[in-house]
Amino acid sequence: MTTNHELFQRAQQLMPGGVNSPVRAFKSVGGEPFFTARADGPYLWDVEGKRYIDYVGSWGPMIVGHNHPHVREAVERAVKNGLSYGTPCPAEVTMAETITRLIPSIDMVRMVNSGTEATMSAIRVARGATGRNLIVKFEGCYHGHGDSFLVKAGSGALTFGVPTSPGVPKANADLTLTLAYNDLEAATRLFDEHGHDIAGLIIEPVAGNMNCIPPKDGYLQGLRELCTKHGALLIFDEVMTGFRVALGGAQAYYGVTPDLTTFGKIIGGGMPVGAYGGRRDLMQQVAPSGPIYQAGTLSGNPVAMAAGLAMLELIQAPGFYDQLAARTRLLTDGLQAVADGEGVAFSTNRVGGMFGLFFTREKVDSYAQATAADSALFNRFFHGMLERGVYLAPSAFEAGFVSSAHSEQDIADTLEAARGALRAARAG
Ligand code: PMP
Repeated sequence: MTTNHELFQRAQQLMPGGVNSPVRAFKSVGGEPFFTARADGPYLWDVEGKRYIDYVGSWGPMIVGHNHPHVREAVERAVKNGLSYGTPCPAEVTMAETITRLIPSIDMVRMVNSGTEATMSAIRVARGATGRNLIVKFEGCYHGHGDSFLVKAGSGALTFGVPTSPGVPKANADLTLTLAYNDLEAATRLFDEHGHDIAGLIIEPVAGNMNCIPPKDGYLQGLRELCTKHGALLIFDEVMTGFRVALGGAQAYYGVTPDLTTFGKIIGGGMPVGAYGGRRDLMQQVAPSGPIYQAGTLSGNPVAMAAGLAMLELIQAPGFYDQLAARTRLLTDGLQAVADGEGVAFSTNRVGGMFGLFFTREKVDSYAQATAADSALFNRFFHGMLERGVYLAPSAFEAGFVSSAHSEQDIADTLEAARGALRAARAG
């Protein structure tokens, strides 16, 4: 039998850190990652046959659980007709119709292959359409690995304590202004000073890359007003929150209308898909109908579109989001009760099917609070959970995800594991 350790040894010789995306390497929590052999429903199985209840869900896409037959069969049907055409295909039209119907702020959309591509393209549109250069982002928010975003970025970069990356030209980073999340006064001051040069402000409407931090009441509305007042575009990066916190994404959940939106993860049903879209007058400036260039050999790929469309069908089932939110609440309330019972300082955040766990007594609504929580205790808890067959995101700075495949029994098993893991973590 191939073991996780043996695979990781081989992988480290061949790929940086043994992985194709940094946070998978467990650098933040220590130890070695497991290698997944297969996935089904709420579970992953590693190459050694161990089963894990999975709260990462491929970092968000698997909102109906892994290997859902409706999605798998749609992919199987699509594959029979060829893998890629390089011409338009009917599924792209259905996808665009579905997105524009589900997200009223989007009149037109462009499909891409990842969240990174979507955000890079969206800020190009913001710059091209406004004729301005500055971009505003938030400390602790992650928008993929585009040069403009690796400026005090979160996710892997935050995990490793490397707020900026070598290879990002300073001249480029100078065009990105960074603000504290959930601080409307700071945003107001920044816009008062630089508003006339700001092309767009990009934000995760629920931050999911510094653990999970929802916006304060009125915060997104305040940002909307600032952007409108100063002629800057408001870009919601809904790569994580889109089709996750509500069918209409965070913009429906909080009732705030952005100018542009980016998607990834769920929209591809597990295939490599992203999208950006928004107001017609903006999107019509994208090539070939306008001069703002953006393209992709595999964009709108027929197999990827089939997976994404099947996923979007499933999540439109009546009551889907109510049930998902109730399951997530069962988990976070349950974990809180376990931690309280063990006398551990602990708090949680939760929006729809997205959650965050913090080893602190405070209710966390800022990046500073998230980074001040006890991450060493989290790391021990993470490993305790892993030993007991529960896979949480391998970093204290990532949101967790519940799927509709997690049963009440899975949640109960998770809480049982948490009791043991917390006792062990505290003792350690
Ligand atoms: N934006 C957000 C909010 C994300 O969470 C991520 C990935 N976690 C991205 C953009 C980048 O997406 P991708 O990894 O598909 O490039």
